[in-house]
Amino acid sequence: MDAEQLREYGHQMVDFIADYYKNIESFPVLSQVKPEYLCELLPDSAPNYPEKLENVLDDIRRKIIPGLTHWQSPGYFAYYPCNSSTAGFLGEMLISGFNILGFSWITSPAATELEVIVLDWVAKMLKLPQHFLSSGQGGGVIQGTSSEAILVVLLAARDKVLRRIGKNSIGKLVVYASDQTHSSLQKACQIAGIHPENYRVLKTDFSANYSLDPKVLSEKISNDMSIGLQPFFLCATVGTTSSAAVDPLCSLGKISKVYDMWFHVDAAYAGNACICPEYRRYIDGVEEADSFGMNVHKWMLTNFDCCLLWVKDSGALIKSLSTNPDYLKNKASQENQVVDFKDWQIPLGRRFRSLKLWMVLRLYGVEKLQNYVRNHIRLARLFLGLIDSDPRFEVVAPQMFSLVCFRLLPPPDGQDDGNKLNDDLLHAVNGTGRMFISHTVLSGKFMLRLVVGAPLTEERHVEEAWKLIQDQASVLLGTRLPSP
Ligand code: PLP
Repeated sequence: MDAEQLREYGHQMVDFIADYYKNIESFPVLSQVKPEYLCELLPDSAPNYPEKLENVLDDIRRKIIPGLTHWQSPGYFAYYPCNSSTAGFLGEMLISGFNILGFSWITSPAATELEVIVLDWVAKMLKLPQHFLSSGQGGGVIQGTSSEAILVVLLAARDKVLRRIGKNSIGKLVVYASDQTHSSLQKACQIAGIHPENYRVLKTDFSANYSLDPKVLSEKISNDMSIGLQPFFLCATVGTTSSAAVDPLCSLGKISKVYDMWFHVDAAYAGNACICPEYRRYIDGVEEADSFGMNVHKWMLTNFDCCLLWVKDSGALIKSLSTNPDYLKNKASQENQVVDFKDWQIPLGRRFRSLKLWMVLRLYGVEKLQNYVRNHIRLARLFLGLIDSDPRFEVVAPQMFSLVCFRLLPPPDGQDDGNKLNDDLLHAVNGTGRMFISHTVLSGKFMLRLVVGAPLTEERHVEEAWKLIQDQASVLLGTRLPSP
C-alpha cells in the first residue's frame, strides 16, 4: 500500500463513480446482455504483470457496465430497493480504508462499541421496546442480510427448545410462517436441520390482504401438538416480499407466548418506514417479539450490506454460536467485560458496517430520513392514481408503503386469464431498458410490482414509467391509449 498512489488512484476512482451517477440515466436499467457475454470479452487467465488503472477502468466502461443492472438508476422499480447515498458511500470508503475485522472487542474496540451505540439509536428511532436495547439482556447486531439474521435466530430458538426437551427431539420441532414469508426462512430451516415436513406454510388470501390469520395459526399449532410435535418458532413479516402485507404482530405474538415459541419479526423492507410516527403502527406488537430484523440497505440510504437485528435475549444467540479457541482468548473477553460480536453471527470475520450507518445518521439526521421514505410513498400513491385513470389496468392489492401491485386486464373475450399478457408486458417494458419492474404471483394471478425506492427517483421518473407501461400495453393489445 503506497499512500500517494492510493491518493492518486482514489481521486480517479471517485471521479469515475461520480461520473457514473451523473450519467446513470443513459444506461439500460436492466442489463440487456446475453449469458456468458463476458467470457468472450476477457482473457481466460489472470495477467502475469501489473496493468494500468486506466486500462482497467476502460474495461469497466466497455465490458462490465453493460453487464450491470443499475439498481441506483431512477428508473429502477423492481424487487425492493438497495439504497446508496453519498454518506453511505463515504462510510464504505472508510470501512475499506481501515479494513479491520471487528470480531472480538479487542480486535477494534471502536467497531464493537459504535455498533452497540448505533443499534441503540435506530432502536429508539423505531421505538422498539426497552428489552432490545443494549442496557438490558438483549441488544442489536449488524448482519449482512436478513437471511443471515433469520438463520441465527432460528438456531438460537432451536437450541433453546432442545435444551429443554432433549437434543434427540429435533424431529419434533415445528416452524410456522405464512405462504408470503420470504424463502430465506425455508433455507434457514434446511440449514438448521428442521425436518422439511415440519415447516408449516400457512395459507393467506386476498380477503385479509395476504396477512397471516392468527386463527389459522392457532388451529395448526393445536393440531401439531395433538400429534406430539413441538411448535417452537414463528416468523411474522411486516412488508412481505410479494405485496408488502403486514402480519398482525399483537395477536401472533400472544399466541407465541402461550406456546412458548420464539417470535421473529422480519421487517426487511417496510421496517424502514416505521421510523415515521405515522407508520410506526405497522410494528405495534413488536413488544411481543424475541427478535426483529430490518435491512437499512434497502430503504435507509445505507449502502449494501447492512441488516440490523435486535434480540431480546442475546444469551440465547451466544449459547448457539459461541466458540472460544485459545488463539482468540483475551483478557477483556475472559473477564466478560465486553461484547464479542463473533458470537452473534455465523462467520468469524466481520466488517465495520456500523461506520456507514453512523455516517448516514449523522450526515442526514432522522427528519431527512423520514422525509425520504415519505416522498417515496407519495410517489407510489401518484402511480396508483395514474393506474386508476386507465380502465385497461387494475390495482391488484392495496398500496402498501411504496409498493403498487397492478396488472393489465385481459381482453373481455374470456380466452386469456391475463397471466401471459402481463408476463409479455413485463418483458416489453423491461426490454426497453428505460425502466425495470418485477412481478409476483398472488392467488394464481401474475402481476406487476412497482416499488419506488431508488434514491434518485423523482416524480418525472414515475410519470415516464407509467407512460412507457401504457405505450407497451397499447402495442400488446393492438389498441390506442384511452382518450383522457
Ligand atoms: N425478508 C423479506 C421480507 C424480503 O423482502 C427479503 C428480500 O427482499 C428478505 C427477507 C431477504 O433479504 P436478504 O437479501 O437481506 O437476505
